[in-house]
Amino acid sequence: MSEPLVIVGNGMAAARLVDELVKTSLGRYAIAVIGEEPRLAYNRVLLSSVLAGETASHDIELKPAGWWRDRGVTLKYGCRATEIDVGRRELKIDGDESIEFSRLVLATGSSALRLNVPGADLAGVHTFRDSRDVDLLLTLAVRKKPVVVVGGGLLGLEAAYGLAKAGTPVTLLHLMDRLMERQLDAPAAELLKSLVERKGIKVELNANTARIHGATRVEGVQLADGRLITADAVVFAAGIRPNTALAKEAGLTVNRGVVVDDHLQTSAPGIFALGECAEHRGVCYGLVEPAYEQARVLARHLSGRDAAYPGSVVATNLKVSGVSVFSAGDFLGTDGSEAIMLSDIRRGTYKKLVIAEGRLVGAVLVGDTADALWYLDLIRERKPVAAIRSDMMFGRSLAVEAKAA
Ligand SMILES: Cc1cc2nc3c(=O)[nH]c(=O)nc-3n(C[C@H](O)[C@H](O)[C@H](O)COP(=O)(O)OP(=O)(O)OC[C@H]3O[C@@H](n4cnc5c(N)ncnc54)[C@H](O)[C@@H]3O)c2cc1C
Repeated sequence: MSEPLVIVGNGMAAARLVDELVKTSLGRYAIAVIGEEPRLAYNRVLLSSVLAGETASHDIELKPAGWWRDRGVTLKYGCRATEIDVGRRELKIDGDESIEFSRLVLATGSSALRLNVPGADLAGVHTFRDSRDVDLLLTLAVRKKPVVVVGGGLLGLEAAYGLAKAGTPVTLLHLMDRLMERQLDAPAAELLKSLVERKGIKVELNANTARIHGATRVEGVQLADGRLITADAVVFAAGIRPNTALAKEAGLTVNRGVVVDDHLQTSAPGIFALGECAEHRGVCYGLVEPAYEQARVLARHLSGRDAAYPGSVVATNLKVSGVSVFSAGDFLGTDGSEAIMLSDIRRGTYKKLVIAEGRLVGAVLVGDTADALWYLDLIRERKPVAAIRSDMMFGRSLAVEAKAA
């Protein structure tokens, strides 16, 4: 008889895990997925395109209903898991229903952070995490009244771009002195800022949000240095927090995320976690690729094969506000490393490669990211680059040709 395997969360990590599981252990598990969002799993990354009006919301589903049905997966969506009874191997669901498991996987993702400032609970304050948020933001876009987006990382830039594209006047506030400081060095961030401003988005750096003004709904945002920005709505895109409450209440070890070992197992035997809710070797990843790598390893492990997750080399390779951006590895460089840079501000391109001990260890690209995956491969494989050092800046084809000549 198939063992009951229950997955909590019907997001990107869960969908990939089911995909991998049906390939590796067909028939071994009776899989049930419990998801709080009232729709089939969708590609969350594409919410930015939905907001920008480039993709329809119903086109971002990861798998059609028939795919889940044909693989015998029991799907319960619009349904929140409320408690894990570790001893009885039972998961409680909204409405007092319980479901038994022999293996349980937590794939509960993260929630958007709301800054703890006065006015954060006023009407007109939004977040940008799921398709319900996007529906609300789309109604803002129609009104074309000024909006403040708080957060100059990937999410904030995407929210600002989507709203600006729909004709909304947008001011983007960022606490730090440069955009996307976790992915970009100062020149790359400066170039990104100018490209974003060309799209009509006003960017305020060193902007510490002190309070949100308004009697019953948002009227403006006050910064700590006294600047006041008039706004009809505020979108918080200033970070995420892993959803760990379920695990914590069940007594599992939780730091920032649910702590897992190299088999993605939590502190409770037979209970696993992956994706944004998991913390592996002290790291909570906020990107899709690590979640997919974890899904591959967990599916192999659950199928009884040898598999261990060593952690991921994080790379960012995306279009931010319509601008191609890539960043990977140690892009800032450390003592003893050297950097090669190429910058053409008028064309809107910037490239930086960081080399240490004869190997590429980090890279930042803005504008032209055609060779991003090649650089990523060099970083991940730790390949010696001495033979292509002087040509690698100009891309794979030139560097490989020069080496062959
Ligand atoms: C707008 C946007 C753009 C992004 N762009 C990129 C990008 O370009 N590149 C990139 O790598 N990453 C991007 N990300 C991040 C990426 O989407 C996440 O890393 C990925 O979705 C994580 O997958 P997950 O399954 O761990 O979490 P999620 O996809 O968040 O899924 C978790 C699911 O669990 C559900 N859940 C939580 N608690 C419970 C409960 N108790 N019971 C039942 N269900 C529950 C949630 O409702 C949710 O549906 C973006 C994210 C957003 C919001």
